[in-house]
Amino acid sequence: MPIDPAEPYDETNIFARILRGELPSDKVYEDGHVLAFNDIRPLAPTHILVIPRGPYVSWDDFSENASDEEICGLVRAVGRIARDAGLVAGGYRVLANIGFDAGQEVAHLHLHIFGGRPLGPMLAR
Ligand code: 5GP
Repeated sequence: MPIDPAEPYDETNIFARILRGELPSDKVYEDGHVLAFNDIRPLAPTHILVIPRGPYVSWDDFSENASDEEICGLVRAVGRIARDAGLVAGGYRVLANIGFDAGQEVAHLHLHIFGGRPLGPMLAR
């Protein structure tokens, strides 16, 4: 069920609970700006979710309201996580779903990193 990205941040969303340590995750990387963990239902051999520590509902919210430091921290972390996962030589995909048309399911911004096999066309036609 897609979330409404215009709603205020909901502190009970599942990724907020993972950030607070209330729910477990298969952690890949963390620093002062982000937490990264393996997706619970991977769609590729490597499928990592990267989330900012701040309370941002979506890319729209983050790109408008996050500080330059938070934005830089997230972007640099995504590159580093992909490099550390050995994805650069073979290539990889970074994706964020925002709102209804994209089918965003969790109301805390998350970037998907996919890799480890040819990923096919960008979108189904
Ligand atoms: P979205 O469709 O919102 O872009 O993607 C949400 C992603 O979160 C999905 O790929 C889904 O498998 C993943 N996910 C949902 N709940 C959990 C969870 O509790 N733990 C982990 N690791 N991933 C989750």
